Order: sequence, then C-alpha cells, then structure tokens
Amino acid sequence: MRYGQIRKYDISNGVGIRSSIFVTGCTHACPNCFNEEYQDFHAGELWTDIQTQEVIEYLKDPQVAGLTLLGGEPFQNTKELIDIVQEIKKEIQKPIWVYSGYTWEELISNPLQLELLKECDILVDGRFQEELKDLMLRFRGSSNQRIIDIQKSLQENRVILFME
Ligand code: SF4
Repeated sequence: MRYGQIRKYDISNGVGIRSSIFVTGCTHACPNCFNEEYQDFHAGELWTDIQTQEVIEYLKDPQVAGLTLLGGEPFQNTKELIDIVQEIKKEIQKPIWVYSGYTWEELISNPLQLELLKECDILVDGRFQEELKDLMLRFRGSSNQRIIDIQKSLQENRVILFME
C-alpha cells in the first residue's frame, strides 16, 4: 500500500481533531475529484511499520479524537488497511472514520471490504457528484454522500446515519 500523506492534526475529515491517513489509488474517477493526484496507485510513498508506529504515537495525543482513513480509495487498499487498523487498535482505541467512493450497499456485499468496515466506526459513503456539490455540508462534498454509523447499521441491518 502507498500513501500520499499523514496528518497529525486534521480538522476537516470527521468530528474533532483527528489524525488522518490518505492512501493512494482509486478507480472511481469522479469528475472534479478533490484529490486527483491520489487516484494513482503509484503515487506517494510505500507504507511500512514505521508509518503505523507514527500514527499510533499521533493517536496517543489526548487532543486527537480519532483516526480518519481517506484517499484515494481506502477500500481498494483493503487488505493492507485491515492489518494496519488492527495493529493500531492493539495499542490505542479511538473512533475510526473512513471515507469511500463505494456506497454502504456495495461495501457490505463484498466480504473483504465488509471486514474493514467492521473495524471502523463511521463511514462517509459514495462517489463525489459535482451536480450535488454543496459547500455547506459538513465532512462531505456532495449531498448523495451519507455519514453512517457503521456499528449500529450492522447491528440493525439497515443504514443508520450518524449525522445529517
Ligand atoms: S472516490 Fe474520492 S478519491 Fe476516488 S475519484 Fe472519487 S472523489 Fe476522488
């Protein structure tokens, strides 16, 4: 897996101050993608244990509310992210947000993607749609995207929003 950047303090991608991992590689090709350079699977640097340890240290900071995974497409780096998230959770448990161009319905029908989903707490789902772009929306770019409480949704077997 490769990554474009790691932010220690990110205030844009989830509730509170978060540490965030921007993986690279995404085939959704949304027009006007907010991070076009991260669509390339060869972009950025190779992820190693050093980066995992770095993120663990960031998350130990009491100011940091949790971790956010985005990109690129986290669910096209699924296997690696499952291992990384499990490694992080052995050391520190804080809520994990994950962004995806896939919808909830697509993710739960893919066993490997479902496995990563289960490791996380909040999903912002769906491709960015320029015609539905709304600058007033919090934590997402277009109004088709939903902010979903993963654990409650899995429990009740229906989509339960975390926030509108
Ligand atoms: S899913 Fe995200 S990273 Fe991928 S093309 Fe769409 S906006 Fe860009």
